[in-house]
Amino acid sequence: MNEKKRIFSAMRPTGKLHYGHMAGALINWVKLQDQYDCFWGIADWHALMSDYADVSKIRDNCREILLDWLAVGVDPNKAAVFVQSHVKEHAELSLALSMIMPLGWLERCPTYKEQILNLQNKDLSTYAFLGYPNLMAADILLYKSWGVPVGEDQNAHLEISREISRRFNNFYGDIFPEPETLLTPSAKMPGLDGRKMSKSYGNALNIADDMKTVWDKLRTMTTDTARERKTDPGTPEKCPVWDVQKFFNHDPQEMAELHEGCLKASFGCMDCKKKLMVHLEEAMAPIQARRADYEKRTDELDDILKAGADKARKVAEQTMDEVRRAMGLLC
Ligand code: SF4
Repeated sequence: MNEKKRIFSAMRPTGKLHYGHMAGALINWVKLQDQYDCFWGIADWHALMSDYADVSKIRDNCREILLDWLAVGVDPNKAAVFVQSHVKEHAELSLALSMIMPLGWLERCPTYKEQILNLQNKDLSTYAFLGYPNLMAADILLYKSWGVPVGEDQNAHLEISREISRRFNNFYGDIFPEPETLLTPSAKMPGLDGRKMSKSYGNALNIADDMKTVWDKLRTMTTDTARERKTDPGTPEKCPVWDVQKFFNHDPQEMAELHEGCLKASFGCMDCKKKLMVHLEEAMAPIQARRADYEKRTDELDDILKAGADKARKVAEQTMDEVRRAMGLLC
């Protein structure tokens, strides 16, 4: 039997996940876990890099992120689901790679620049934060990952992992593969104000939100600004609600009617949102039921993370054994 190719991805535990995470990554993860040997990490070391001054929420956030993953359909029987710091080799490989990581690569890495911009309210002038892409490369290479699922805008972020893999292999022999980009076919999921959905913008629909909360948020969501009154015609393609509608509404006839109704102003935005809400409720009901169910089974959550870390560690230990030997350390 052919062995499945190995892939790795991770998320920083910074709070509850939102619909953007679901549309941009998690739904794809659920599909990938049937085709690949998947390793999904909860990147708590990465969370510490930005939240080092207040660590009070990191543990709870790990729990929340796990619940959101399981709710959407991440299956711990198919994929290794684990907390990054539980597999100590992540930190060890990061240190090993830091020996050969040129400073210039870190300083110009798009991930580094992006995070500095996104997290302006925090002092990120630390040694660890500059090394963020180094740890990210270690996360990926530790599993000798064949590929990493990323959105189109993140492709460049992977490049540093490929570069350091090549550099390592040049110095010490052929240990690491160069991880491929597995482009995620992600749907657009704008936030309530029409900008990218983001916790920091306060414009998110959270996976954990109950339906009343979702409706309270959705009814205030920005629409095509040309539709000031119900009698003004609109353009669905200029409306953020339409993007959400496209994601949840799979009824082509109703979509055609909504599209025409918007263009001809034959019904209002609130009617359009109510139709969306029906489809959204249908899609989110099983997700919310799964989340509620797992919330009651706290012991099982610990077991999932332990089993995931055990599986990840087996691969990680083997890789580190090779790395230590290659780098001339006593084994
Ligand atoms: S009718 Fe629907 S698609 Fe058209 S502007 Fe209103 S919310 Fe957007």
